[in-house]
Amino acid sequence: MQVRLPSPVTELGDDRLGGVRVFLKRDDLIHPDFPGNKWRKLKGNIDAAREHGAMLTFGGAYSNHIRAVAAAGARFGLRTIGLIRGEEHLPLNETLAYATGCGMELHYLDRTTYRSRNEPDFLARLPERFGEFHLVPEGGSNALGVRGCTAIVEEIEEPYDVLCCACGTGGTLAGMAYALSAGRRALGFSVLKGGRFLYDDVASLQRAAFGHRTDNWSIELGYHFGGYAKRTNALTDFADDFEVRHGLRLDRVYEAKMLAGLFDLIRQRRFAPGTRIVAVIAG
Ligand SMILES: *Cc1c(COP(=O)(O)O)cnc(C)c1O
Repeated sequence: MQVRLPSPVTELGDDRLGGVRVFLKRDDLIHPDFPGNKWRKLKGNIDAAREHGAMLTFGGAYSNHIRAVAAAGARFGLRTIGLIRGEEHLPLNETLAYATGCGMELHYLDRTTYRSRNEPDFLARLPERFGEFHLVPEGGSNALGVRGCTAIVEEIEEPYDVLCCACGTGGTLAGMAYALSAGRRALGFSVLKGGRFLYDDVASLQRAAFGHRTDNWSIELGYHFGGYAKRTNALTDFADDFEVRHGLRLDRVYEAKMLAGLFDLIRQRRFAPGTRIVAVIAG
């Protein structure tokens, strides 16, 4: 498969930066079927799935991760099973229609059942229903997925001080922060309301992937703009204006929130002039 790696890094020229320099790492350009960090997180999981011939995973009806797992199944000849949160709605939305088009088998879990998706009792019953498979958690964030995100850091040759990303499950932040060299730090922006749990999740993901956690990261909790997949007029205005200035249409679920947050922190002078920031555009 043709993937574009390393993904390009470009500097953002913007008159609002006041002496701070911002670079975008364009993981959205890696491959059209695998929005950036989803490829980073799936690569090791695809290798692990080969011996089972199948991957089973979880996600919401609009999940980029579901889309990426389905695409991986079609490309690498793996059976894929998607357990989707909520009820079936017909006609299928674009994400789920794409997933079935790739051959993914969809099954729906009511919200209560979905909440037990990581519990051992629930997981133990899945093979009798679905046969043999490699399990990939929601968002692709397991130890293999988190380790895949260290490559983002290894690819960046430009000097920088801070590395930013949007956080859904926190797997990307966990992997990137682990790989940073001394003196640099990672900053995540929660796209979920009440994202404080991410502090525990990122630490646990680092322990699972690397054996210990690092202390070089933090998470901004105040830029969720209403919650997951929600938006406010302020967010839409920021993203529309960004598109006019830079010719880049930002994903509204993740990247618009990260950059709106980053620009707000810059406006509040939270970074010293001369600070170099790399923001990862993951999709
Ligand atoms: C999934 C996704 C993220 C979040 O990554 P996590 O590792 O789950 O925190 C960020 N940006 C985009 C575009 C994504 O698809």
